[in-house]
Amino acid sequence: MSKPLITITGATSGIGLELAKLLNKKGYPLLLIGRQIEKLAVLNLNNVLIRSVDVTNLEQFRFALSEAEEVFGHCDCLINNAGVMLLGELDRQDSKEWHVMLNTNVLGVMNGMQAVLNGMKKRQHGTIINVSSIAGIKPFPNHAAYTATKFAVHGLTDNVREEVAMDNIRVITIAPGAVETPLLSHTTNEQIKNDYQAWKEEVGGVLQPKVVAETIAYAYEQPQSVCIREIVLSATRQQA
Ligand code: NDP
Repeated sequence: MSKPLITITGATSGIGLELAKLLNKKGYPLLLIGRQIEKLAVLNLNNVLIRSVDVTNLEQFRFALSEAEEVFGHCDCLINNAGVMLLGELDRQDSKEWHVMLNTNVLGVMNGMQAVLNGMKKRQHGTIINVSSIAGIKPFPNHAAYTATKFAVHGLTDNVREEVAMDNIRVITIAPGAVETPLLSHTTNEQIKNDYQAWKEEVGGVLQPKVVAETIAYAYEQPQSVCIREIVLSATRQQA
């Protein structure tokens, strides 16, 4: 039987890129979303639709989804993975950075959920996987605004899971600790970036994105009657 369509946001880098490669290898048709899509085009993947979509724009999201569904059939799984981490001290950080994170990490996830939920409810089938963080469970130094966004992802995922459970839709939180990706590189405070980098070395290396991708695939590939509500994973030597 042919496999159903999976949509991945933030597929152009890090965890999302590994996920795109893994799920493509497993034979799922994919809608791959990001803004810097030239990074995906060079992979020459078959059975994928690559679209430049800003997740903060619901209309763009809906349009890309309808294009993919026309080619591959209904979207059975949305992986809301796109995210931004701009670390800073709350009293000094430029508030524009808060807006970027809240818009992307929270409203982007809500946009994605709204785009797919109607169809999933009609079909009484579907899975939404939201990539949060351990920063969605506990605080870390210089993470206040980012933590606010990831606590929100945890909250809204749990809330929507309860709302659509009786529609046979799974809503899942994946909460990784630190992962070796370009995520940190967008932080503008050089001191914070250097300290974080030094901490990663002290720990002896953090998770590889491939491990997180495999964890997400594991959660999705359970029978539809099984909802792994949340997975928290980190490098063993990450204490906090
Ligand atoms: P990367 O920086 O490698 O990837 C982030 C992805 O998000 C990119 O593909 C980027 O694509 C996309 N993105 C950002 N903003 C937008 C936007 N407005 N619209 C569409 N796509 C967007 O980071 P990671 O792979 O590490 O991050 C993936 C997720 O994992 C994030 O939600 C992050 O918070 C979470 N996470 C990461 C951890 C880590 O230590 N790395 C730890 C815990 C959670 P493009 O620029 O092409 O638009």
